[in-house]
Amino acid sequence: MPQIIDGKAISAQIKEEVKQKVSELNAKGINVCLAVIQVGNDPASSVYVGNKKKACEYCGIRSESYELAEETSESELLELIGRLNKDEAVDGILVQLPLPSHISEDKVIAAIDPSKDVDGFSVNSVGALAVGKKGFRSCTPAGIIELLKRSNIEISGRECVIIGRSNIVGKPMALMMLEQNATVTVCHSRTVDLASVTSRADILIVAIGRPRMITSEYVKEGAVVIDVGIHRNENNKLCGDVDFDDVKDKCSYITPVPGGVGPMTIAMLMHNCVSRYLEN
Ligand code: NDP
Repeated sequence: MPQIIDGKAISAQIKEEVKQKVSELNAKGINVCLAVIQVGNDPASSVYVGNKKKACEYCGIRSESYELAEETSESELLELIGRLNKDEAVDGILVQLPLPSHISEDKVIAAIDPSKDVDGFSVNSVGALAVGKKGFRSCTPAGIIELLKRSNIEISGRECVIIGRSNIVGKPMALMMLEQNATVTVCHSRTVDLASVTSRADILIVAIGRPRMITSEYVKEGAVVIDVGIHRNENNKLCGDVDFDDVKDKCSYITPVPGGVGPMTIAMLMHNCVSRYLEN
């Protein structure tokens, strides 16, 4: 049996550390505040926003909530972001995606002051990561680095294969693994003979968005398997991009779904809200 990487426990540990930091800051008269903007009322977005606000409350971070109507114009949203950029009481600005189609996500993300881009999605933040400078790190891949490090899994020098090249997971993941001195290969829908590439991986990170596609033939004996996918299966139960039951006996470590990568995203968002106050 592989070791199960417990994302619930590790994310709880990170939130606890953030909570401790916030309470130290509060004692010095410093409050931490995250502005959370949601446009429209997409049910999935409402759940994510609700969970982020709950995590803020747990950590002692004040969340300032902006629930805007679906018809809100792009310029109204940009104006709000402009105000929050200038507001010294606001440490981070989070705009829940996706936005309604009449609003450009690129423009909105670009409008957030880089010093408040806690999601780490802006060109500025991604550029800083690419050239090895300080900046906000996209929460899901940053959470995966924490899962590996806190499970004492060696990254340096190991062969890492990532399936997926999205801007929010695959690409920043590749840069972060490179930063940790892994030898990195990125696969995507045009990769020829995917299994022959993935079966080289000491660490296989899967972010394809296809339920249970990765079976044991894609996995090297003893590999570490990180499953980013989240789906509902035919019985309405959560599952990942990896076929857990088929793969588990072949790998050394694996993340479950739920309870693996999922809880790390919000924990790292909380971490990003206080990161400017943390010494390196
Ligand atoms: P995207 O759909 O944006 O990207 C999927 C990637 O997988 C693309 O690069 C695509 O290639 C590649 N791909 C698709 N099919 C294949 C295939 N048959 N063979 C090889 N590569 C393929 O997804 P995201 O990166 O946004 O998300 C991936 C998964 O992770 C989803 O299930 C999502 O729900 C989940 N997720 C979970 C999060 C969490 O907090 N746990 C956070 C974010 C996402 P190409 O570029 O060529 O199209």
